Amino acid sequence: MSESKLIGCGDNSCIFARPKGPGTNGGCRCAREPGRLAHNVRVLRQQRDELLAVAKRYAAECRLCGGHSVRRRLDVDGVPLDDVACEQCADVRLVIARAEGRSDE
Ligand SMILES: [Zn+2]
Ligand SMILES: [Zn+2]
Repeated sequence: MSESKLIGCGDNSCIFARPKGPGTNGGCRCAREPGRLAHNVRVLRQQRDELLAVAKRYAAECRLCGGHSVRRRLDVDGVPLDDVACEQCADVRLVIARAEGRSDE
């Protein structure tokens, strides 16, 4: 399970992890530790993938649009209007698109 934890350098300003006890001062030293950097990048990628999977499941199971990302609307006479983006899962879909590099925003 150690693979899934970010490892820090013990400095108070470490970018990866807070020191457990009293930390050193002077700045994060992680950039000088290629092995630790590689480990942390693996951990962050894995966490991103897991979060992405959760976000995709959420979008696919959206109760408002049934996972279609658009909602069908009918006017008062039951005539179909233009589909609208589902407001319930639009933000999640945007996050997914960004994470997968499909958005310019
Ligand atoms: Zn550090
Ligand atoms: Zn939806």
